[in-house]
Amino acid sequence: MVEAFVLRWTPFPVSSPIRFTLPESELPTHWYNLAADFPEPPPPPLHPGTKQPVSLEDMLALFPENLVRQEMTTERWVEIPAEVREIYTLWRPTPLLRAVRLERALQTPAHLYYKYEGGSPAGSHKPNTAVPQAFYNRQAGVKRLATETGAGQWGASLALACRLFGLECRVYMVSVSYHQKPYRKLLMQTWGATVSPSPSDQTEFGRRLLQEAPDSPGSLGIAISEAIEDTLKSKSTKYALGSVLNHVCLHQTVIGQEAIRQMEMAGEEPDVVIGCVGGGSNFAGVAFPFLRRKLLEKRKTRVLAVEPTACASLTKGELRYDFGDAAMTTPLMMMHTLGHDFVPPKIHAGGLRYHGMAPLVSHAVKLGLAEAAAYPQTKVFEAAALFARTEGIVPAPEPAHAIRAAVDEALRAKEEGKKRVILFNLCGHGMLDLASYDAYLGGKLSDG
Ligand SMILES: *Cc1c(COP(=O)(O)O)cnc(C)c1O
Repeated sequence: MVEAFVLRWTPFPVSSPIRFTLPESELPTHWYNLAADFPEPPPPPLHPGTKQPVSLEDMLALFPENLVRQEMTTERWVEIPAEVREIYTLWRPTPLLRAVRLERALQTPAHLYYKYEGGSPAGSHKPNTAVPQAFYNRQAGVKRLATETGAGQWGASLALACRLFGLECRVYMVSVSYHQKPYRKLLMQTWGATVSPSPSDQTEFGRRLLQEAPDSPGSLGIAISEAIEDTLKSKSTKYALGSVLNHVCLHQTVIGQEAIRQMEMAGEEPDVVIGCVGGGSNFAGVAFPFLRRKLLEKRKTRVLAVEPTACASLTKGELRYDFGDAAMTTPLMMMHTLGHDFVPPKIHAGGLRYHGMAPLVSHAVKLGLAEAAAYPQTKVFEAAALFARTEGIVPAPEPAHAIRAAVDEALRAKEEGKKRVILFNLCGHGMLDLASYDAYLGGKLSDG
């Protein structure tokens, strides 16, 4: 595909603007909660023992009360604390760009827009929730946060946020990534976090696993179990999660709110809004504010969640109650799932290797508000390379899934001879994922 679309220099200047930026004064003041506007409420999380809806008290072992209340709220707009907004302004509002060179390469009548979240200090959308999570923990008197990370995007974001609020941060990083992908580990350590390869010798669970298999590569499920054990053993420690939960989706909605304003500046209305999905948070962030208008103003906006075929919870999984982790320690959540014991193939989009899906995203799909599609990674990297060669930014392998779907929408518009306005979320850059480009460029990529 890349070879097929050689970009030729066009000898006329661009007639319409391509970069849409908002002043600091237009940073959103509230997060938007889709739970307030669903025509029917999503089923509640259940206590695995009693099978009754989890209570606020049940969750206090892991999270501070202010965040548990936020997790359960059906309030439509939640005010963003001033301290959080001040830190957001380090990289927000983020730019919206029109991908005119990609449009030309595709020779499509479609207009392609992308919201760029890669300009945050950690290089992805994840600090949008890491910062408020650290803030609320700090406000509740918590001294230390424990978490897990796979490839390191979440661990790095939380390490930064903890540093900014004076909290200690302990990250259990999946062992194979710890050794094979040292750069995000070094980011975490630079920001002052303590990082252990998981399974680690810091927990009973980890020590037991190490005794059985001293060179275990680890898994996200194991790392979650270690972070939870750490949290339950220490009075001043709480746990933090980078995706899936309602409050995480909530925090990400600054993305879509800004995008709505910026599309107005561009004088266009997206026909389709696209995001990649691992646990569902960056997709929720860009899409939920558009879904609000779809529900309240009866707009026809399509909303599309894109996942890898190798870990396709929305298109291949079942909608049922399941655990969020492999060790079965979390509440049961009603979500699209491949099963809590599903071990996804080692695709390069590490952030999309999660067996489940955010309950809010699952519910939106169930109600027909959102669609889902899945792509194999060879197709995804073709689109990623085309994007890098036309727009310049090297995308992370995860948002490359959204780019692939956007390219296909643009090509369909071309076939149909119709204009179509497409918006996608470019939720992170790929500068620390160049090893996956090495595999692509060397023809060593398989579909897993
Ligand atoms: C973590 C991550 C994802 C997947 O998580 P979501 O909650 O689905 O957004 C996608 N892209 C990037 C860049 C990530 O860091």
